[in-house]
Amino acid sequence: MGKTFHICTIAGIPLKVHWTFGLTLLFVAYVVHLHNLTTAASIGFSLLVLVMFICVILHEFGHAMAARRYNIKTLDIIISPIGGLARLQDIPQEPIKELVIALAGPAVNVIIATIIGCYLHFVLGTELIPSGDNLELLGYSIDFLKFVFTINIMLFVFNLIPAFPMDGGRVMRALLSMKLERVLATRVAMWLARLISFAFVAIALNTHNITLGLIGLFVYIMSGKEYAYVKMIKRASSTVSEVLQSQFTKLKTTDSYQSVIEAYQKGNEKNFLVYDESENLVGSIPEVFIKDAVKTNHYPESIIDLMSTKVAIIAPTSILRKVANMMSHEGIAICAVQEGDELIGVLDRYAVERFMKK
Ligand SMILES: [Zn+2]
Repeated sequence: MGKTFHICTIAGIPLKVHWTFGLTLLFVAYVVHLHNLTTAASIGFSLLVLVMFICVILHEFGHAMAARRYNIKTLDIIISPIGGLARLQDIPQEPIKELVIALAGPAVNVIIATIIGCYLHFVLGTELIPSGDNLELLGYSIDFLKFVFTINIMLFVFNLIPAFPMDGGRVMRALLSMKLERVLATRVAMWLARLISFAFVAIALNTHNITLGLIGLFVYIMSGKEYAYVKMIKRASSTVSEVLQSQFTKLKTTDSYQSVIEAYQKGNEKNFLVYDESENLVGSIPEVFIKDAVKTNHYPESIIDLMSTKVAIIAPTSILRKVANMMSHEGIAICAVQEGDELIGVLDRYAVERFMKK
């Protein structure tokens, strides 16, 4: 994310600016210099950029306030030269909540545009759109308002393009999620975003528009990231029951080591659990031990002589992410999965890795 600076806290939400925001000042200075603007127009242009960012901040607060309605906290709002980002603690899984939160931002721009539009049309009786893109017009307050009106319409339209990471991408996913499972809905939304990104790049190449080309590239990358993220969240929140193997070899302390090797060489299992005569789990034989024994051609007589005494018994309802963390932290290759007192399967490290990567 990079360094950010805390500006103030509004309604309990910290407002921060990204360090690259400083580039905006350079951009303003560059435009003023390039167009050789009059003092009034320079002030007008600087104010316009400021007002535009205020509109972006209000847009983000729209998201944040809608999220608050659903008891979802907003960690902070970060402003950068390319826009704002309200970082929510959680993205709601319910489509209707995601839809409301996604639409709340652009709705703020519609409200601002409507208020200014009504003032321009009904009170001042003038056009809504500036009569040209001549920045000198910004020296006049009425034209300044027309620019602010136009900017809010543009923010509204741009954000509702149905492609991640724009709000429209989330709207699209939320709508698709009403009929499809969430990961699949995100996948469809990702492909739609990619089609749009191809169109952007094609138009950019034809019109030599670098900005549009970069937006196309950005959309392509971010939509893929969104899909990968949703997939990963879904996997990590799965339960052990979705990955456990109910067919497995249960070794006894009285078995010979040769029988372990034989079970291993069948190829279906890599790690094994060891039980004593009273059916208590007493250890495990991880693949590394077996490989070592085969390599050195040195088998101990009893299984007990070459086994790990680290054991873990988990419930089928355990969350996979937590179990996977525990296994890697404790160095456990295989867990016994028990429902109450009954052994119903094993959870193997490789099976977990395979499932997460799928
Ligand atoms: Zn937004």
